Order: sequence, then structure tokens, then C-alpha cells
Amino acid sequence: MTAAENRILELRAELDQHNYRYHVLDEPSIPDAEYDRLFHELKALEAANPELITSDSPTQRVGSAALSAFTQVRHEVPMLSLGNAFEENDMREFDRRVTEGLDLPSGDLFGGGAEVEYSCEPKLDGLAVSLLYQDGVLVRGATRGDGTTGEDISVNVRTVRNIPLKLQGSGWPATLEVRGEVYMSKAGFERLNATQLEIGGKTFANPRNAAAGSLRQLDSKITASRPLEFCCYGLGQVSAEIADTHIGNLQQLKDWGMPVSRELKLAKGIDECLDYYRDIGERRNALAYEIDGVVFKVNSITSQRELGFRAREPRWAIAHKFPAMEELTELLDVEFQVGRTGAVTPVARLKPVKVAGVTVSNATLHNMDEVARLGLMIGDTVIIRRAGDVIPQVVQVVTERRPENARPVQIPECCPVCGSHVERTQLVKRSKGRETVSEGAVYRCVGRLACGAQLKQAIIHFVSRRAMDIEGLGEKSVEQLVDEGLVSSPADLYALSFEQIVDLEGFAELSSKNLLSAIADSKKPGLARFIYALGIPDVGEETAKVLARSLASLARVQQALPQVLTYLPDVGLEVAYEIHSFFEDAHNRKVIEELLKHGLEIQDQGELGAEFAASTTLGGMIDKLDIPSVGPGGAQKLADKFGSLEAIISADWLDMRQALPEKQANAVREFFAIEQNRQLALDAEKQLRDFGMHWQSEKKVVEGLPLAGQTWVLTGSLELISRDVAKDKLESLGAKVAGSVSAKTYCVVAGPGAGSKLVKANELGLKVLDEEAFVAFLAGHGITV
Ligand code: NAD
Repeated sequence: MTAAENRILELRAELDQHNYRYHVLDEPSIPDAEYDRLFHELKALEAANPELITSDSPTQRVGSAALSAFTQVRHEVPMLSLGNAFEENDMREFDRRVTEGLDLPSGDLFGGGAEVEYSCEPKLDGLAVSLLYQDGVLVRGATRGDGTTGEDISVNVRTVRNIPLKLQGSGWPATLEVRGEVYMSKAGFERLNATQLEIGGKTFANPRNAAAGSLRQLDSKITASRPLEFCCYGLGQVSAEIADTHIGNLQQLKDWGMPVSRELKLAKGIDECLDYYRDIGERRNALAYEIDGVVFKVNSITSQRELGFRAREPRWAIAHKFPAMEELTELLDVEFQVGRTGAVTPVARLKPVKVAGVTVSNATLHNMDEVARLGLMIGDTVIIRRAGDVIPQVVQVVTERRPENARPVQIPECCPVCGSHVERTQLVKRSKGRETVSEGAVYRCVGRLACGAQLKQAIIHFVSRRAMDIEGLGEKSVEQLVDEGLVSSPADLYALSFEQIVDLEGFAELSSKNLLSAIADSKKPGLARFIYALGIPDVGEETAKVLARSLASLARVQQALPQVLTYLPDVGLEVAYEIHSFFEDAHNRKVIEELLKHGLEIQDQGELGAEFAASTTLGGMIDKLDIPSVGPGGAQKLADKFGSLEAIISADWLDMRQALPEKQANAVREFFAIEQNRQLALDAEKQLRDFGMHWQSEKKVVEGLPLAGQTWVLTGSLELISRDVAKDKLESLGAKVAGSVSAKTYCVVAGPGAGSKLVKANELGLKVLDEEAFVAFLAGHGITV
């Protein structure tokens, strides 16, 4: 056997195996790019040795045999694959073959040849399906299978929401087979994986595998729960002709209710095709779904017939592929990075590899649970995915390529930066007066600000624009300040001298003076800014604003009990405990004390927020205690009857029974019989009183903020007022500012260039203000800009 013969057999066996895993099991073990390389190698060998081509070679066949678990379906018109091209030259070659095949005059150096009309469509990355309509009614759905025999997935396709079960309008052929792709949008894929992680189910490496795996389910209920969509791109068997062009066919199908790509276009000649490819390539990341290329098809149906087919693909169509988003590489090592909150995160160091045009040598691994989920070992061959602007990720291990000397990934016992102990975080779940503790996915270095990495990140965050906004202190300077021992807490920034700064690399006399005055200028921060700057885990800008608006003084924020914090809008129990334990911590208290000693004057707002004051009633508080079997109604009855927490706790049985049925009355007594529950409730009540509130059983009808309860959206470019300021002003009036428009939106402020959000607002009939009207509106509320 010659070497070529040998390699051909080897490649065929390997490709058959990959085809089976990809098309039948929906569980490929290598990325498409690797498959394509093997496929092209086989194709080239067969082209050089045509006598070795056999009809069962993967180059001559489509897909893989149908799974016998499904009923089999025969395709009257075979479902083929597509030839593909990566380079412009290959595309020009394709156009030349088409022109010659159609016997059209081909161009010379000066152009002048006939220009073929092509339809241009995105190549959706999903699963090909055939939908058979008889007299306009969907009677069968099938997969492509091996092109001749597919699987009957009728029940499953019916669950795909945009597949019409009945065609609209009239005039369709009695038998009409529509072909297209079932796919999953990027957002749908993210959502599905998040849910799968939550329920401990199987996650998917990419939207294509997710779509294929979801559609080919024996239990259609599973398919129905998955966010699948359909896009039609052609016809199979039809009992009567529809139009004389491909685009004409698709337009007619669209009129009958079939989803057709919005990107469908007509191109005259190959240059327009190449323009289309470039244009979509630039917009690829912004599309809602994943595409792996574009498909060009000769538009005239007569010409398509004239050109005909090769073994596995039509001669009149081609897929022009984009650079792959997944590639194979080797995991050289796993290093651990320490973040601002001390989280010790594994990072994959990879053998550099080009993915979608960019060289990747690191990838995030999120946490140790993810390492375990992937079954990752150092030395493994892994699949790296770089979708859009997202940080590259390791999505899969190619276990069959694991070397013998592969090593497990181990979390270090000590912090790689400061040597402190590394601890696994604990997840505390609190419900119905009980705490359950489980192990968290995150490991933390316990060194806090004594850890250089955490200190640097904390200072970088502290000085950042949206926090204390100290201009002139970049990451490099912060690193120097920390490394030289000049700064060991955010408070030390306020003790820096001119001499210390001017000696730093990159600083001269003027820049040092500027930095000192920027530091001095930051001494009167608003409360929200200051809270955000502290870098409390899970407290972003929004939560910081809520804390400031509701509690209105640093002292109250510092003292607030977790059960009190949960009264604040959008603050859940977990965040409440994070905030509380941050301020309980002696080290953090000391830093705040020192900051105040250095002359920081935090701009408290004094008065407790009106919204907050209005949200606390005795009934509401009892409801929040989460007493088993006592809902909001029961809680209100207790409040009405007893008027104070003390009275409820000491109530006798008869009085209690007057307020509640026996089961609930018992539950209340049992709940308050537990010392810890009693104490938590009394402490919360006392604190709320200390904060200046008094109980009343009716919700206080206070004059809340004028825009309380309203959601506003800002869109377009605002010229009279910056977006941040507009947002702040709206929030100061009690509105919530959201990023997207929905039926719940109260008003949309649309500046010049507003696009889809404005369209949606108009569609929904929402109130829309232009910028001038908005500024006038603010002025009406006493706000000038
Ligand atoms: P293909 O996916 O490259 O192209 C044909 C398919 O494109 C059609 O069947 C259809 O489903 C789809 N398509 C999307 N948009 C279309 C449009 N507008 N018009 C027409 N068709 C459109 O070819 P294939 O034969 O389905 O699969 C081969 C490819 O699958 C390989 O190139 C490889 O990338 C991948 N594959 C990977 C593995 C693996 O192990 N990773 C194994 C087998 C195949």
C-alpha cells in the first residue's frame, strides 16, 4: 500500500468518526477548523489519486446515517451539503466555473465578461431541516441525515415557535417542501447554558451544538423548552414551480409566513458578492445569531438546473466561510490571578493559536468548578472559542488526545502574590430563619489589603472615574506606589507628598502638582460615589446609589443590619450580608476612619429617603421575617391587630387566634419561640426606629419622589446634557433608568441618532421626549443643567 493510500484510509476512518459524533451524537470532539483541515487533506489526496476515490469516502457523502431511534424519512430531492471557500481566489475560481458552465463570455483583464446574478445569504450555524407542507399544512419535519434518509422530527419542529404550522395567504403548491436551518440565537444559547449550569445539566460548547442537541431529542418537551428558531433558505420537493429565481422563491415563501433572512440580497457579479462578505464579516459580532460564513447561490433557477450537482454539493452554490471561532491548542499551564476582592482565579496559559484572526495565548477558566466541569488537566489539547469581543474561553477538552504526563490543576494553598492562606468561600443560604452553608465556587486570598494584588486593584478602583475620580493616577503609577510601600490603603493616598510623587516614574513637577490637587479635589465625594469607591463585593454603582439615596448617611450605611438593608429596592439578602460584613470588618472600619481623619468630607444627604421611609410598615416587616405559612395577608392581619412587634411576640394564644387561623397562629408562636428569630426581628425594628421611622400598620402615604416607580430610557446622543448627568438627575427624582425599552418603560428620552429603541418606543406607544423637552421637563422639577 502506498503512503497516500494509507493516509487516505486513515483520514476516512477519522473523518467518519467525527461525522458520526457531529451529525449523529451532536457531540463533536474537535473544532470545525480541525475537521475542515482533515477534510481538505483527504480531498487533495483524492484529487491527486482519482483512482482511489470510493463512493463511501466522506468527500462523496453528506452528513451521517440517521439515528435509528427516530423513524426514517426518505428525501425525494436529496439534501446536499455545500462546497466551501475561505479565500477570495477560491471565490473567483467558483465564479469562473459558473460562468464557463453556463457558457457565458468570461471576462479578460479589462473585465467585460458576463456578470452572474447571485443571491447572498448568511450561513447560519445550526442544523438543516426539511419541512413538508401538504395543502399549506405542516405534515412532516425531518433532519438531513445522510442526505437521502433523514430522521422524522415532526413533533419537535412543531415546538419551534417561528415555524408556521399552517401557511398564510394562498396559492401555494399542494406539496411544498421548505428547507432551512434551525438555530439558536447567541442570547438564547447564553440563557440555556446559564439554566443548565443552575440545574446541574449538560452545558453546550457553542450555539450549533446546542441547537442540534435540542432539536434531535426523543422527548419533544425538552425541545419545546429550548430557544430554537428557524430560517428558511430554499426548497425541496414542490408540486408546482413558484418563481424563476431563488430570491423570488424566498420572497414568496416569506409572504406565506416563512421566516427568511433579513440579510438576503442580490449581487451582480462576484465583486458584489465579495463586498457582501466583507460587510457581513464586519457586522458578524453584532448579529443576534452565529454565522460561519455566507452562502452565494446562482439566482436563476434555469441556470441552477443547467449547472447541476456534483456528488455531495450543487455546482451553483458555495459557502464563503469566515475564520473559525474555535481552534485547537495545548494547555501549557494554569496560573492563578488575584482580583480586587481576593478571588483567586485560574487562567489558562496556552500554546499561542490564531482564533478568528487574533492570536490567543491566555483564556479565562472562571473558577475551579469550571475546571472540574471541563475535566481539564495541564498538557491537555483543548478547544478554544473566541466569539466576538468576548474573552477567549476553553470550551472543551479533547480527551482522546490527553498525553500520559498530563497533570491535574490544583488550587494553591497560599496566595501566589502575598503568600496568605487561600480559602474556599462558603455560600450561606438563609431562608425561613435557617441558614444552610455550602461550598462556593470561588477561592479567596485572606490577605485583603496586605495582599499586593488586592491592594493595587482596590486603589485602581478607588481612584477610577466613576468612584473618587482622581485624575492622573493610572494603573502603572498605582503599581509603583504600592510596590515602593508608599501606599498600603486608600487612605494613604491623602498623605502623599510632592516629593514622593515627583520621584515616581512618569511624573514631573507639573504632573505631580496636578495629581496632588486632583487628590485634594476628591475630598468631598457624594455618598454614593464613596460607597462605590470602597469596592464592597457585589456593590456596583447602582446599589451604591440605592444605599445613599435610602439611608442618606454614611453612619446609617455602616450600621445597617442585613434585615434592614433588604428593605432597599433591589437589595437581596445575600448582598445585604456582604454589605453588613464589609462594615463589620475591623480592617475596613479602620480604613474608613483614616480616610475621615485625612479630611474626607462625605456629602451625606441627612434625611432618610422618602421612598425608603414609605416602604417600611409593620405588616411589611413581619412579612419579610419569612415566618413559615404566613404570607403578606397574614402579616398585615397581625400588624392591624397588635400594632407593634413587642405586642405580637408577647400575645396570648386567644388574641393570636383572633388574628389568624390555628395553623398560622401556631407558626407565629413557634417562630418567635426561637431566641435568634426574636432577636433579629427586634433588632431590625429598633434600628428602623433609631433611623427615625415609626411603625404604622398602614403604608405611609408620603409624598414620595416625583418619578418614583417610573422607568426611563435614554437613547441617541445627548448634546445639551451628558448621559451620566441625565441619569443622575432622573434618579434623584426617584426614576429608575434602564438600558432597554419594554412595555414597562414610562418615558424614552431620544437624542439625535436614536435608533431601534426609539422605533420600539413608538411601536409600543410610549411617551417620548426629545432632548429639549427633557431639559425643560427637568427645569419644571427645579433642575437646571
Ligand atoms: P456545511 O455546514 O459547511 O454547509 C452546508 C449546510 O449549511 C447546509 O446543510 C445547511 O444546513 C447550512 N446552511 C446555512 N445557511 C444556509 C443557506 N443560507 N443556504 C444553504 N445552506 C445553508 O456542510 P455540512 O456538510 O453540513 O457540514 C460540514 C461542516 O460541518 C464542516 O465544514 C465542519 O465545519 C462541520 N463538521 C464538523 C465536525 C467536527 O467534528 N467538528 C464533523 C463534521 C462536520
